[in-house]
Amino acid sequence: MRVAVIGAGIIGACIAHALAKRGAEVILLDRDEPGQGCSSGNSGAISAGSVAPVAMPGVLSSVPKMLLDAESPLFLPLGYLPKALPWLMEFVASATPGRVAASARALDDFHRGAVAAHVALAAEVGVPELILQRGHLHLYPDEAALAKDAGGWRMREAYGYKWERLDREGILALEPGVAPRYRIGLYLADHATIVNPLRYVQAIVHAFRAIGGKLKREAVRSIAALPGARWQVNAGDTFDHVVVAAGASSPRLLSPLGIRISLESQRGYHVQFAGAQSLVSRTVVLADKKIFVTPMEEGLRVGGTVEIAGLDRPPDLRRAAILERIVRETFKGLEGITPTTWMGHRPCMPDSVPVVGPAVGRPGVWLAVGHGHLGMTDSVNTAKRIAEALLPAH
Ligand SMILES: Cc1cc2nc3c(=O)[nH]c(=O)nc-3n(C[C@H](O)[C@H](O)[C@H](O)COP(=O)(O)OP(=O)(O)OC[C@H]3O[C@@H](n4cnc5c(N)ncnc54)[C@H](O)[C@@H]3O)c2cc1C
Repeated sequence: MRVAVIGAGIIGACIAHALAKRGAEVILLDRDEPGQGCSSGNSGAISAGSVAPVAMPGVLSSVPKMLLDAESPLFLPLGYLPKALPWLMEFVASATPGRVAASARALDDFHRGAVAAHVALAAEVGVPELILQRGHLHLYPDEAALAKDAGGWRMREAYGYKWERLDREGILALEPGVAPRYRIGLYLADHATIVNPLRYVQAIVHAFRAIGGKLKREAVRSIAALPGARWQVNAGDTFDHVVVAAGASSPRLLSPLGIRISLESQRGYHVQFAGAQSLVSRTVVLADKKIFVTPMEEGLRVGGTVEIAGLDRPPDLRRAAILERIVRETFKGLEGITPTTWMGHRPCMPDSVPVVGPAVGRPGVWLAVGHGHLGMTDSVNTAKRIAEALLPAH
């Protein structure tokens, strides 16, 4: 069986590796080096308990703030509003209690067992040191801020995830550097973090190549049906199956095939302070600001913000500057360090649920797209799902 996997981000890398292990002849194609897309600059959190979708009941009331407040964790430049409107309408429509409950069930299916799956994969591909198992600490300044996230915490509880509530003293026992602003901590002890997402993807691709998988640096422009249920990529090689895992660019590859998916980029940013990772010893979430502070291998990474502004606009460094200001207000010890900045495209579905499986009406084409805010978390389980469907007899 010949399979093309398009996109060597965390999703495509895990799929290519899983299929090659089951004996398929796999070519992994990317226009860039592996892992250079959204999968390089994320916060590396393996957040199995995050079963609540982004669009929660009441989301509509946050849209005016999003449009008008440049400091909001959600930002949409007015000029992009007409383009984003159809997706936004689907986003708001998916926030009814019934649809949120259905999304949570689907997300739980993707997240379940994610930490153990990543621990096993990291060991298998030779980088066990990249998994930090010290839990995640979510911080709130007060009860009012915590109450805004109550729905998400109730859903974690309903799906069996446990946490410990900490007061200021408890926060300091775990993370002595946190500013006095934060007085309530919720500690999820069994969550984990990948402390170098790019090196992780590279290790997975290396392991894929070591068992005979082929990596090809090529921008895919077309996927064409041939007689005999085969598929041709770029008028070149032919395949029995094509798996599209091209992140936020996937709709551009799929629409010529008549496959429409409602996927929008939610642009996220990070700032990274080289050498300052020891300021925290685990993933610390400034939950009122929706900012993740992570002790990465190479520095302290501060990731967050959602900017809905499409694939083509250049990064707006004012978004990164907000992250920098907030982290400097929260931790001492960053004085004199100028951070690097990064922007990436989260591939987001309106209901937050990834689209993983065979394309309807296009036998041989498979989708593994739309992992949104949790693509690192869901990558191994996504690959398992595709591999079991494509090579069920194994
Ligand atoms: C700031 C930020 C923080 C995040 N934090 C977390 C976190 O803590 N935990 C978590 O689970 N998730 C997190 N995420 C989300 C996660 O990064 C994404 O869900 C994930 O990286 C998506 O992976 P992907 O493989 O689908 O996409 P990508 O990594 O973008 O990979 C897609 C690949 O396809 C290639 N490609 C595209 N078009 C073509 C083409 N035409 N031809 C050839 N190749 C093509 C690209 O070059 C790219 O390499 C975060 C995201 C951001 C932005």
